[in-house]
Amino acid sequence: MFKFSEVSDMCIKCGKCIPGCTIHRVNPDEATSPRGFLDILKGVDEGEIEIDKNLKDTVESCFLCNQCVEVCPNSLPTDFMIENARAKVAEKFGIAWWKRAFFFMLKHRWAYDLVSKLGFYFQTCGFKIEEEKKSIRSRFNLPMLKKGRLLPAFRKKSFLKKYPERIPAKNAQKRVAIFIGCLANYNYVEVGDSLVEILKFLNIDIFIPKKQACCGAPAYFTGDFKTTEELIKRNIEYFESFIDEVDAILVPEATCTAMLKKDYEEYIKHYMPEWLDRHKKIKSKIFGTTEWLYKYTDLEKRLEEIKKSDKKVTYHDACHFGKVFNIRAEPRNLISKNYIINEMEDSNVCCGFGGITMQSEKFDLARKEGLIKAEMIKKVDAEIVSAECSACRMQITEHLDKVGDNKLFKHPLELIAEVIKDNS
Ligand code: SF4
Ligand code: SF4
Repeated sequence: MFKFSEVSDMCIKCGKCIPGCTIHRVNPDEATSPRGFLDILKGVDEGEIEIDKNLKDTVESCFLCNQCVEVCPNSLPTDFMIENARAKVAEKFGIAWWKRAFFFMLKHRWAYDLVSKLGFYFQTCGFKIEEEKKSIRSRFNLPMLKKGRLLPAFRKKSFLKKYPERIPAKNAQKRVAIFIGCLANYNYVEVGDSLVEILKFLNIDIFIPKKQACCGAPAYFTGDFKTTEELIKRNIEYFESFIDEVDAILVPEATCTAMLKKDYEEYIKHYMPEWLDRHKKIKSKIFGTTEWLYKYTDLEKRLEEIKKSDKKVTYHDACHFGKVFNIRAEPRNLISKNYIINEMEDSNVCCGFGGITMQSEKFDLARKEGLIKAEMIKKVDAEIVSAECSACRMQITEHLDKVGDNKLFKHPLELIAEVIKDNS
């Protein structure tokens, strides 16, 4: 197991990580700050702090937003520390049955397909459908389904079922694979639809690898390392079977991209180093969608030739693109060709999604941060809020509803595909 004190000892206590820390903003206490987490986990290593319910509560309160890692002068991996601490906590206390059931679905596509199908047909019974927001409003009072909450609706056909494995383009110069991510596969299907439309517009060959598994982020962030490792191995082995045939694997989700590139690497380095070279080869071809479209295609130029829309957009930087890869300019450079971008006060402030535990047992914390973000978005003169992340979409949609703002959420790919369609 990873040794916490190796990282904690490198902390120079400068405090640079504290002002922007998401949990510290909603719970201002040294114990729930990056520096505090590092100290506490050193105490665990040295046997001074017990792995008890108190520690569980503390380490589960981190949003894993990566702000601390981005600003730390020593780039200390506080997020990796927290993930490892959660694994220790999970070893001692186990993982709630309903989270284990969810991770089972992540490992078995047939099970997720089945739940999604049943969800589609029965969601009309217990929920109110809000078509425009692609959401359902809960009428129950269960862990993640608190009454009145807006949750992503299931769709009749998942993205992976909707399209053939290969969508060839005539005389294509490039060929890409799509890794869709679970939320865009089952709930926000228009994200994948839009990506397909944009790639067709650019005359790029499309490969949709049907056996792709969940990236494993929900399990990893919960400390379920067994599920994480199984999904890492499955995805790497599968990607190896087609990696030489494609120029890139495109991922329209910030969290999945960070998981596949950065988190896999960190985990592999510590727990399965013999896989490092295999991962390195795959990692070099994995890209977030707007980053790749901006850097490796002429999409920006092509969009310049298309009529401008008079719609105003405000752009939220998903933590796993902004803070992890500094991908901030790329989506804006593309969207601004056809839309007016009005910036919010601080687009880098985390939306407060935080993961499955934060969205259930710790929803009070997600609520506090979600309201801060939603109030910020509400102040902007715009009809649309956009971010390259479906988890942000879920959290922002829920909290805009709470603050009574009717801005619609659209993924940058949806915005781009819409102007392409309107001008074709
Ligand atoms: S990952 Fe985010 S919430 Fe967690 S300690 Fe770092 S800055 Fe704070
Ligand atoms: S920024 Fe880094 S070195 Fe400074 S207190 Fe935070 S974790 Fe420690």
